[in-house]
Amino acid sequence: MSAASSSLLDIRAADLAANVRAGTTGASDAANAARERIAAVKAGPEFLNAILHQDPAAESAPTDASAALAGVPVALKGNFSTVVMPTDCGSRMLEGYIAPYEATAVRKLRAAGAVIIAKTNMDEFAMGSSNEHSAFGPVRNPLDPERVPGGSSGGSAVAVAAGVVRIALGSETGGSVRQPASFCGIVGVKPTYGRVSRYGLVAFASSLDHVAVFGKEVDDAALGLQVIAGHDERDSTSADRPVPDYRAESAKPLKGLVVGRPREYFPSSLDPRVVELCDRAFDTLRAQGAQVRDVSLPNTDLAIPVYYIIAPAEASSNLARFDGVRYGPRKTGDGLVGMYEATRSQGFGPEVTRRILLGTYVLSAGYYDAYYKRAQEVRALITHDFTAAFASGVHVMLTPTTPTPAFRLGAVSDPYEMYMNDIFTATANLAGVPAMSVPMGRIGGLPMGAQLIAGSFDEATMFRAAYALERGLGAEAHR
Ligand code: GLN
Repeated sequence: MSAASSSLLDIRAADLAANVRAGTTGASDAANAARERIAAVKAGPEFLNAILHQDPAAESAPTDASAALAGVPVALKGNFSTVVMPTDCGSRMLEGYIAPYEATAVRKLRAAGAVIIAKTNMDEFAMGSSNEHSAFGPVRNPLDPERVPGGSSGGSAVAVAAGVVRIALGSETGGSVRQPASFCGIVGVKPTYGRVSRYGLVAFASSLDHVAVFGKEVDDAALGLQVIAGHDERDSTSADRPVPDYRAESAKPLKGLVVGRPREYFPSSLDPRVVELCDRAFDTLRAQGAQVRDVSLPNTDLAIPVYYIIAPAEASSNLARFDGVRYGPRKTGDGLVGMYEATRSQGFGPEVTRRILLGTYVLSAGYYDAYYKRAQEVRALITHDFTAAFASGVHVMLTPTTPTPAFRLGAVSDPYEMYMNDIFTATANLAGVPAMSVPMGRIGGLPMGAQLIAGSFDEATMFRAAYALERGLGAEAHR
């Protein structure tokens, strides 16, 4: 890669777009630099397996004054419907599948001038926390290829962390953008449920699924979210609310901001090095005028059990369409039921199968009240924890994103242990509140993210704190 082309990927997406609009950078220059970078990464000694498909013909349209992302290369997780490049969801079930329409978020990116250059690898149907559950092989962490990048949006996280793009889309059901952002040393934002249309995002668990954004820096993620946010008549759960200018938060002072420290996110079992990094993050915000206050979210420990009832229940229903009739390559079996059995057992990997079995069980007659209904009740308590904390005067909360840095490939073989990765992130999906991960430092050379959580539809305040944290930590965030 030439020095000139690499510098196009080294500047913020907003600055690149401004240069393209001004005509000082060609509309395809950055996309071509990104493609060169993909080739270099793929040829490199540590083939990361992050990018599965490329669109060599993608170009920027428009590049006029309205184009917030003019010429900006963007990568998409493999579960966003696109009419070019397969939407394979990391699964044999959708291998080679080309969607007949495009997701609303993708249409909005294109309309803003973004160049959709690639689709990324992911845990099968977005189920996982390590990206070891893809039918197309595991994704590796660019900071240490023996380690996982996190999941399930690991391919998109790696595309950003390896310097291919400044902005990539992922999806979140329980932490699938924040956790890989933490593991890869980049920014990951999950907006409020309803802030971004889910139209065209292949469903996992509809009441928990969110379109989410990775950015190299806070500003890249803010710009990406800005472009895709807003009401969409094609998604009845998308909110008809004005979208504030998130990037305007970058220069705002923190005076008057109350930052909560939820005690349940700092259990005595937490690695003291993680606590230390968080304390430094609190100090950084304090030094800029914020006030830090202890808060309690008492039902936090119920989030994982509740998540692993509701998410599989909804998944078992959503994934019923992959039956060899509506979707999926049909396999032959004995009669209709035999065909379903053969198609589904050969098409789905072990983690997806486990979730479908679990979900079918908790929804079955006799167990519905004991598991599913009860889980919904506890979910309401978790949501109430957040409502009460924000009503008490806290504007944003800071927690670790993950309990540990990236682990080695193959190190976590027990599904339950894997599920515990989402212990700090799944709450925000259950409650629908916005949350993001921002790099806060390293442990043994491996990145750790600070999670910022705000009240519903208050992404602006979350970004205000995120910009301040990034600014205050400076290079320390990556050391
Ligand atoms: N790791 C969680 C799971 O396996 C969350 C996945 C996600 O957010 N898509 O379900």
